[in-house]
Amino acid sequence: MIIVIKDQKNEKQIESLKNWIKGLGLDVHMSRGENSLIMGLIGDTSKVDIDLIRSLDIVESVQRIQEPYKNANRKFHPEDSIIDVGGHKFGGGHFQIIAGPCSVESREQVIEVAKAVKAAGATILRGGAFKPRTSPYSFQGLGLEGLEYLKEARKETGMPICTEIMSERHIDAFLDIDIIQVGARNMQNFELLKRLGKVDKPILLKRGLANTIEEWLMSAEYIMSEGNMNVILCERGIRTFEPYTRNTLDLSAIPILKEKTHLPVIVDPSHASGLSRLVRPMSLAAVGAGADGLIIEVHNDPSKALCDGAQSLKPEQFKEVVDNIDVMLPIVGKKRDKQERV
Ligand code: PEP
Ligand code: MN
Repeated sequence: MIIVIKDQKNEKQIESLKNWIKGLGLDVHMSRGENSLIMGLIGDTSKVDIDLIRSLDIVESVQRIQEPYKNANRKFHPEDSIIDVGGHKFGGGHFQIIAGPCSVESREQVIEVAKAVKAAGATILRGGAFKPRTSPYSFQGLGLEGLEYLKEARKETGMPICTEIMSERHIDAFLDIDIIQVGARNMQNFELLKRLGKVDKPILLKRGLANTIEEWLMSAEYIMSEGNMNVILCERGIRTFEPYTRNTLDLSAIPILKEKTHLPVIVDPSHASGLSRLVRPMSLAAVGAGADGLIIEVHNDPSKALCDGAQSLKPEQFKEVVDNIDVMLPIVGKKRDKQERV
């Protein structure tokens, strides 16, 4: 971290800032030019309150040289992390497709969709049991009953399951879920993140609706700093001024994340666009941008879906997307587990 001092003559305050920094266990390197004074902080600056330093009268500007995230940082872990979910790997050239309904609506529905997405080539089943809805009057999900149906679908198809947790209160019910999803609205629920850091399960961490890449990585850091290194990031679109799509898919986040972190990155083209006809082009664009996987909403009858029907694909449309992805993957040097296709 570099601090540029505005008021070089105020020796007393400079000295007291220097002592305060030293008190944090850091070394300070002073570099005095003709018209400037620069303090270089040496050591682990992740605990330094940059805004506090910035607010001091003698300070002109402060710049971080090192990112504030350590565990997620590629600098300290140059190889891609590979996250194994029941034998299906994310990262390091491995690509996975997670698919299923937005929400679990009934035992029959989730099992039917599970079989259909498996037949089309998906390797992991998604389905929300606890749904974060904007309106309290909308369908809220089947809750614990929904989790049971998902587990039945897992048993029927052999597919690992991915579902969203909304509260720390439910943690015990999620301990045998294969991928625990943290939704966009909970990306900065720090108590939940810390609790998930103590769980021995992969976490799918979605990007918040209006969060920067750095804030997102800091949320991953919350999980990792508690010991759980199995974090998969999911870009699901951010809120912009554009109303033609539900969100704006930030594809540039993928190559940026690939530079900044070793964690796998997947894309959710369904929530990003909100429109089923955009799912195919956005999926292919995500593959081209370097994603390690996709999570796609598929419903047996989208027109009757209790949640997100407009963005859900029919199984036959989903199969077409998978076929297209399979053509692209060798071009980007990635491999996908092959399900036995029906
Ligand atoms: C979901 O995956 O069902 C969901 C609610 O996604 P997001 O948190 O990205 O809105
Ligand atoms: Mn949804």
